[in-house]
Amino acid sequence: MAGIWIYSEDTVVAQQLMTMGRPLADQLGQPLCVMTIYEQDAPEFVAAGANKVFVLKGNSAWPESYAPAVAALAAKESPTALFIGATLRGKDLAAKVAARLKTGLVTDAFAIRFENGEIETDRVMYGGLAICTEILQGIGVVTIPPRTFEMPNKDTSLTGDIVLVDAGVDSTMVVGNVCPIVRLGADITKAERLVCVGRGLGKQEDMKLAQELAAGLGAEIGCTRSIAEDYHWLPNETYIGLSGQKVKPVLYLSIGVSGQVQHVAGIRDSKIIVAIDSNENAPIFAAADYGIVGDLYQIVPLLTEAVKNQR
Ligand SMILES: Cc1cc2nc3c(=O)[nH]c(=O)nc-3n(C[C@H](O)[C@H](O)[C@H](O)COP(=O)(O)OP(=O)(O)OC[C@H]3O[C@@H](n4cnc5c(N)ncnc54)[C@H](O)[C@@H]3O)c2cc1C
Repeated sequence: MAGIWIYSEDTVVAQQLMTMGRPLADQLGQPLCVMTIYEQDAPEFVAAGANKVFVLKGNSAWPESYAPAVAALAAKESPTALFIGATLRGKDLAAKVAARLKTGLVTDAFAIRFENGEIETDRVMYGGLAICTEILQGIGVVTIPPRTFEMPNKDTSLTGDIVLVDAGVDSTMVVGNVCPIVRLGADITKAERLVCVGRGLGKQEDMKLAQELAAGLGAEIGCTRSIAEDYHWLPNETYIGLSGQKVKPVLYLSIGVSGQVQHVAGIRDSKIIVAIDSNENAPIFAAADYGIVGDLYQIVPLLTEAVKNQR
């Protein structure tokens, strides 16, 4: 049947992928199809523009178990491309699906185009030093990180088919124990404003400078890996970068962060990047929209005062 197919165990992420998938399907003249394991969410996908929604009905509550079902349906229906939300679970599933389909897997694509009759994807390589463009062949399986695309508009007058599919789940996967994650800091991936601290801060007590500025801005606090992993001043889930969290705030403001490539890989989707650093050659300034060269111990209190006076 061909088509542009979307799958995520997270309904919000699946809809974000539809924002990319709908125009792509239109360009190809093919349907946009969504696979979901939640029957109750199927009408939402139709309202967001899906021509067809496959509801995978299996006897497992664990999204991880559905890789065989996703792969089997894709093998049967032969979509042109299958886009999977790159959540932790989605990444795991995508690798299994691609292996079952004996096809290639593009991970963490941030741009998808239809050019010269082919689907091209872009993804970041070498910690952000290069962009790799790939052309899909066969059933191209591609993962896309959450929040790469905005949510689509909904129109409840749209129509689409909802098809229930008997899904064979992976019975070799057994969940023995479930431990909820205890989050120590704020969820910085959802923050609209972020103040990010780096090793420019001389001692832990100086964190209060960042906290006061963040309070004035209504911002959450993030940090570099060094602050979390080496100094242990903030929890690990608040460090930003290639091996940390990828953030997408409206405002990212760094204090004493040099801006090494592994850090910048996590902030490049921020809308406005402001950097304060005493070294005018610090790489963070190449990524920043606004830069202040100077001593953070002088600048941050002035900035905090100015922000307070604005309110
Ligand atoms: C495989 C790998 C993965 C990595 N992943 C990540 C990651 O995900 N996230 C991450 O953050 N890092 C990551 N790193 C580490 C990264 O390479 C850097 O070492 C780290 O980001 C540096 O942190 P920093 O900017 O706090 O410190 P530094 O690089 O030491 O920078 C401190 C900055 O503070 C400035 N400064 C000093 N005093 C003042 C002052 N008084 N006023 C103003 N400015 C001042 C300095 O000029 C300097 O620019 C990774 C490294 C590797 C090898």
